[in-house]
Parts: sequence; structure tokens; C-alpha cells
Amino acid sequence: MSGKFVKVKCPKCNNEQNIFSKPATVVKCLVCEDVLAKNTGGECSVSATVIQILE
Ligand SMILES: [Zn+2]
Repeated sequence: MSGKFVKVKCPKCNNEQNIFSKPATVVKCLVCEDVLAKNTGGECSVSATVIQILE
């Protein structure tokens, strides 16, 4: 299974957070609990703005 860590910015509160690009579960913003990414049956959907891809 491949995946990357990405730095995203929460669209709601502009909090910057590192998340896994293929999460097994829902990833929420640590500040406002807005959903940043979720796994929808194998397909990962990142709804937050990706500002950097971390290796
Ligand atoms: Zn937020």
C-alpha cells in the first residue's frame, strides 16, 4: 500500500496540518474538527487544500 504524507490547510480555519494522503478513516482538523480527508471505499478523498507533499 502506498501513500504519502501531505501538508494541508483547513479550508475553514486555515490550520496547517500533516495528514496521510490515504487515510484508513476520517481525518479531522485538530482545531475546528472539519473533515480534511476521508476514505470512501478504497478511494481517498482529500477535501482540504494540499499545500505541500512530504516524502
Ligand atoms: Zn480547521
